[in-house]
Amino acid sequence: MNIEIVTIGDELLLGFTIDTNAAHLARELAALGVRIVRRTTCGDDAQAIARAVQEALERTGAVITTGGLGPTADDMTKPAIASIFGRGMVLDTDILAALQARWLARFGHTLPVSNHQQAMVPEGCTILPNRHGSAPGIWLDDASQRWVAMLPGVPREMRGMFADTIVPRLRERLPVGGPVIRARTLRTANIAESALADKLGELAAGVNGLSLAYLPGNDGVDLRLTSYALPDRETDDALAVAAQLVRNQVGSFIYGEGTDDLAALMIQACVTRGATLAVAESCTGGMLGMRLTAVPGSSRVLQGGTIAYANAVKVRELGVSASDLDTVGAVSEPVARAMASGARLRFGTTIGIGITGIAGPDGGTPEKPVGTVWVAVDLNGEVHAVRAILPGDRSEIRYRAAQLALDRLRRAFDRDQDAVGWTSRG
Ligand code: ATP
Ligand code: MG
Repeated sequence: MNIEIVTIGDELLLGFTIDTNAAHLARELAALGVRIVRRTTCGDDAQAIARAVQEALERTGAVITTGGLGPTADDMTKPAIASIFGRGMVLDTDILAALQARWLARFGHTLPVSNHQQAMVPEGCTILPNRHGSAPGIWLDDASQRWVAMLPGVPREMRGMFADTIVPRLRERLPVGGPVIRARTLRTANIAESALADKLGELAAGVNGLSLAYLPGNDGVDLRLTSYALPDRETDDALAVAAQLVRNQVGSFIYGEGTDDLAALMIQACVTRGATLAVAESCTGGMLGMRLTAVPGSSRVLQGGTIAYANAVKVRELGVSASDLDTVGAVSEPVARAMASGARLRFGTTIGIGITGIAGPDGGTPEKPVGTVWVAVDLNGEVHAVRAILPGDRSEIRYRAAQLALDRLRRAFDRDQDAVGWTSRG
């Protein structure tokens, strides 16, 4: 089944509101096996709405709109679409009664006549109840089975109404055993896209007929497997088999799946081991601590940390050697190691993590270009250090440095000395 989406609102065209409704509908419909063949956005203008919906109906015959259902003057979705179907607007007495009751309860007086237009609906439509707000949605179809579903703009109301009223209607219309679209994401850290593709070899372009997408971000590269053509009952198994094939090739570079957060995984790993943690951060300025404390329950693990930005603070608060700072510089293996061990000893924890690097844009040299980062993890006195030359601007380098440190901890737990991908490029 094919569908078009029309999202309505001046604020969407102006870029003040991100069109999350279209994204949500796209994901939900794909999972049902409904294909979105086109998305249109138009402003709060009756003619623009009518034209966009009319064209979508002619092309595809099935349209979902969001926005412009409310009581204000810029809400003209209903009459604009009624006109396409050659329908007039009529007063719905049930909606009017519900509005009147709501006004009486909330404001203690009767509904102003100017608000009666909220109860006007296209002739011959089906009302879609709104359990999450006041403006109901509208379902309108014609003799040749073409239909438009009008949903509210407020994302929470739209999502609720879609799940309550549109999903059941679509299920009735879908062929049983038809294809669904479903994806599974494997998350990698500290390895470049090209290195991943090398490791994947023959799988790089797709696995058993499933597509494989590379999605680089600051956490690392996500590998997303998507099944487009299989029926519901076969899809999960096919994704599981493909995910295992990818795991076999990429191995320890994969730290999680879906929306897994490396900080949360490491807090959990510490809880499991009864380990406590302290951080010593230079170029990340507390970002590692921020990521760790964002995880509910992190107080059982994280004891504290030091933002040791200046060399004097590294010496005074962490016991870094002043002569190391003079001879090899702040961004170096001995300093990262001393920071990690200093944090562990001074905070009395099982684990200390040190981060030191050059986030730029200034401060790079030929031997230590911008992006050079050393991280070290002191795990009960056994120190694992790694250098990387991280790509990106200042904020990306800082974020990636924190992620590198978390990944170094993960590998220390796994007693895994595997080379870190970025390092091999530097
Ligand atoms: P209301 O009854 O609140 O007027 P409505 O159906 O008329 O609802 P709009 O007025 O178009 O909806 O939008 C209401 C709110 O929802 C606005 O804050 C708007 O920014 C937000 N919104 C509208 N469309 C979208 C969209 N496609 N994605 C995300 N947010 C949206
Ligand atoms: Mg509105």
